[in-house]
Amino acid sequence: MASHTLDTSSVTSLKGVGPALGEKLHRLNINTVADLIFHLPLRYEDRTKVTPIGAVQPGSTVVLEGNIVACDVTFGKRRSLLAYLQDDTGKIALRFFHFSNAQKDALKNASTLRCFGEARRGATGLEIYHPEYQAAHLLPLETTLTPVYPLTEGLGQNKIRNLLNQILQRIEDGSSLKDYLLDHTQFPLPLADALRYVHSPPANADLGKLDSGTHPAQQRLAFEELLAHQISMRFIRKEMSKQSAVSFKPPAEKCDALRNRLAFKLTNAQQKVHVEIAQDLAKFSPMLRLVQGDVGSGKTVVAAFAALQAIENNVQVGIMAPTEILAEQHLVNFTEWLAPLGISIAWLSSKVKGKQRLETIRQIAEGEAKVVIGTHALFQKDVIYHHLGLVIIDEQHRFGVQQRMAFREKGGASATVPHQLVMTATPIPRTLTMSMYADMDCSIIDELPPGRTPVTTHVMPDSKRGEVVERIAVACKHGAQAYWVCTLIEESEVLDCQAAEVTATELAELLPAINVGLVHGRLKADEKSEVMDRFKAGNIDLLVATTVIEVGVDVPNASLMIIENPERLGLAQLHQLRGRIGRGKAVSHCLLLYHPPLGQLSKQRLNVMRESHDGFYIAEQDLLIRGPGEVFGSRQSGSIEFRVADLLRDQYMLDDIKAVSESLVTEHRESALALMERWLTDPTQTGQV
Ligand code: ADP
Ligand code: MG
Repeated sequence: MASHTLDTSSVTSLKGVGPALGEKLHRLNINTVADLIFHLPLRYEDRTKVTPIGAVQPGSTVVLEGNIVACDVTFGKRRSLLAYLQDDTGKIALRFFHFSNAQKDALKNASTLRCFGEARRGATGLEIYHPEYQAAHLLPLETTLTPVYPLTEGLGQNKIRNLLNQILQRIEDGSSLKDYLLDHTQFPLPLADALRYVHSPPANADLGKLDSGTHPAQQRLAFEELLAHQISMRFIRKEMSKQSAVSFKPPAEKCDALRNRLAFKLTNAQQKVHVEIAQDLAKFSPMLRLVQGDVGSGKTVVAAFAALQAIENNVQVGIMAPTEILAEQHLVNFTEWLAPLGISIAWLSSKVKGKQRLETIRQIAEGEAKVVIGTHALFQKDVIYHHLGLVIIDEQHRFGVQQRMAFREKGGASATVPHQLVMTATPIPRTLTMSMYADMDCSIIDELPPGRTPVTTHVMPDSKRGEVVERIAVACKHGAQAYWVCTLIEESEVLDCQAAEVTATELAELLPAINVGLVHGRLKADEKSEVMDRFKAGNIDLLVATTVIEVGVDVPNASLMIIENPERLGLAQLHQLRGRIGRGKAVSHCLLLYHPPLGQLSKQRLNVMRESHDGFYIAEQDLLIRGPGEVFGSRQSGSIEFRVADLLRDQYMLDDIKAVSESLVTEHRESALALMERWLTDPTQTGQV
């Protein structure tokens, strides 16, 4: 047996990885060579063959070769460089919105050119926006499918591919990765073979299968990934049951005071869940409870009651959200509800720095701050709590199991660990909850507050964009506000934000009478909140956004939402987005502006959105419709962000996983720990089990 050096050797042992690149990889949670080889592609491109230009289908991503027959700057809606590429079979336009003069001249004088990109219908017929290109004779065509990886700033696809090739070569040369599943799995494929296949699929691989994650190589890995999560939950549950927590007395005067101050009465569902939580908090073992509730079902106020009960028992409460925007929303709500009761609230995010941060940390350490709200900054090493008794985590699917485990360490001086309340709006079909959230008890808020007007959803092709823009003009003139959501166009956040910028500029030109705002993930926190504040105050009529608005934004006056390319999103995510409207008195409309042609399954899926507002029903339908074979990226699944697994797609494995994890945890503890280390993103936490 070769030694399993890959599992432990540092990425810096790879050629070309110095401290700078090592740091970038570290940002992707890649520290060891094994981490890198488990950094799996998001999708694949076929650059193995040249397509005749005459045969290019709209929506396809292709390699083309031909001559540039014309190349000029055009002045349409936006200035762009338009070059025509021609071969024996036809002609296609290459369009560049960003270009230099040098680039223009080079293109003009180019001889045979090879280019790569996605063909779409544009102003001149089929066009490719910003294709990659090079002189055709420079490099041979690829011989394998080209993997596309999740990136981080300053780390390009080519670099990652190069590193992975090095690792594959090492495996070829005899270095091995430990294969923990050899005796267990129903998947006979050895681990090394599965990894080689997913990083470097042969030219004739089934792209449909690869894109849907149903290829046996991917399924082999998905099984292992789900297994690692299941193992970690077993450990957590076991660990938790051994811990003790502070038992809280039942809700008392502060809770009554909040109840009296609220402008509304709790729904029956909220009341029921509030009671379940209160009972958990009275126990001497830590609560670990997941509250699921559709968008707008009113989870926040339920969390506020839990917080008050904790405070009445003289402990601190940490409230953590995955994004700054969402955390701020909580800050606003909790300040409104708790500050009048004399409760001091502290704010902590990665943007809080210097003196201010030190002061906040002091307030937390000395117990002055009763409630601490923020992002994951709440649980950094130097944030020490006086006595943390309850941790509330919103939108749990954004946090890994391991991060949750970190809170145990924050209990303060006492020997107890905090109770944990986890809230998610991601509807998880009930069958899955049982197996994948095995470490938690589960409550469901299955009722919306009264007086909501349901959102009417329309599905239309993007050829109707003009009419839609008209519609926005009319709606905003009558005082309504609207969202325009640009969906992911690339795995790169940068490009995604650029797309939103382009759209915002276009819409601002088309709608001169309307104030158009823009919010995306790359804005600074204060810029983001400034835009959101202006939108809330009604100074922005139309907010162009990337999917960052998915969670938490509450602007009741917004009654119109346009979602571009909804077919690219999972239904759960669409449902989340749509939940941003329909919060006020006006009838709200959601327009799903798809890019034709739309496959049969996509059509069916969007119809589910049109017909239903029930998040659980939508999630279940998504599961039914998708089935195996539907082309679907694994990252689009609604819940935990797995690298290769997809809870819905792979749920057939869950029974097996349960059995295998049981035997690993009880009989092969070392292997179980190693699997967690391999698949869970924060191995420093798993070391503490
Ligand atoms: P979510 O479950 O999506 O987090 P929120 O907690 O943000 O929902 O609540 C959505 C909105 O509904 C908020 O404006 C909140 O104040 C309001 N709300 C919550 N509970 C009730 C209720 N019982 N009656 C009326 N409005 C409520
Ligand atoms: Mg919420």
